[in-house]
Order: sequence, then structure tokens, then C-alpha cells
Amino acid sequence: MDGLVSNASLIIGVGGGGVSAHAIVLTGLAGLAAGSFSMAAGEYISVTSQNELVQAEVALERDMHARYPVAERDELAQTLARYGLDPELAARAAVEISAHPRTALRLHTREELGVDAEALPSAWTAAGASLVSFAAGAVLPLLPYLLGARTLTVSLILFVVALFAGGAIVAQLTGRPRYLGGGRQLLLGVVAAAVTFGIGHLIGTSTG
Ligand SMILES: [Zn+2]
Repeated sequence: MDGLVSNASLIIGVGGGGVSAHAIVLTGLAGLAAGSFSMAAGEYISVTSQNELVQAEVALERDMHARYPVAERDELAQTLARYGLDPELAARAAVEISAHPRTALRLHTREELGVDAEALPSAWTAAGASLVSFAAGAVLPLLPYLLGARTLTVSLILFVVALFAGGAIVAQLTGRPRYLGGGRQLLLGVVAAAVTFGIGHLIGTSTG
């Protein structure tokens, strides 16, 4: 959706300025490349920083376990008691879990930080997924031009259909009415494209 909306808006904005099909293809390809790589780089940095933060917190927790094993065991017993175990059983369970340092550390970090330190997301996978999905969306409004179209019409039709279909699919996955999800996505996408078309048209007519 990001790729579709941003590149369609770009193409429609430039098209609104009245440039040639060649200039639109050039703009669309540049927009596709720029957007895909900036999304991938942003995603990579974001996931990497998040993972580094988790690893730092885990290292801190590991240090606490080494220095204050009894306090950490009592903390675990309290956590288990909050889940409804009676205090005696919680204390016994905490002793047994704490006998396995790796499992204990994993449980502590999950309870205290809300993350599973042994199942951190891959930054490369996240970056790759962002790159591919952005490019897939961004190429759509460009396709008609790549296949020889000379006006915006087919791109506009593709854009509108893809917006509605994309919104409807997401709505389907989340169990909401499809026409609502599709309609909302359509409205937002059309507003973005209308704004860039307006800007392109204004500047195109004032300087051309
Ligand atoms: Zn702890």
C-alpha cells in the first residue's frame, strides 16, 4: 500500500503537470527505487536498534541473575503468584525453573520486557520484505506506461482498483466488512493522489 499510494501519487502529480510519458516512466522508476531502498533501510535500522536494545536489557538481566540469584528467584515466585499460583507452589516452581538458567532468563525477560530474546526478528528479512512489498505496490501504477500507455487513464483505473482491493483484503483478514476497508483505503489513497495532482497541475500550468 505504501508503494502503491506514494508512487501513484508521484506519477499522477507529475502527470498533472503535463509532462511526457517518458518523463513519467523516469519519475516512476526513480520513485520506485528511492522508496524501496529507503523503506528497506529504515526497516533494517529500526529492527536492528530494537534488537540491540533487547540484547542490552537481556545482558543486564543476566548480570542481575549472576549477582542476586535469590532476589531474582523471589521475583519469579512473585510473578508466578500473580498468575494465580498459591505462594508455596509459586516458590517451589521458581526454584525448579531457576535451576535451568537459560530457561529462567528467557522467562524473566519475557515477563519483564515483554519480548522473547531467543526469537528476535531478523533485520534482513524485515528489510527484504519491505523492499519487495514497496516495489510491488510502486510498479503497479507504472505498468501501463511501461507497456506503452501515453496517458494517465489506465494508471488511474489500476490505482483505484488496487486501493479498493487492498483495503478489502485487509478487512477480510481482520474480520471487518470488505466494502468498509476497501472504501477507507480508496478514500485515503484518492486524497493523496488528488493533492499531488493539484500541486502538479498548478505548478505545471504556472511555469509551463
Ligand atoms: Zn528478573
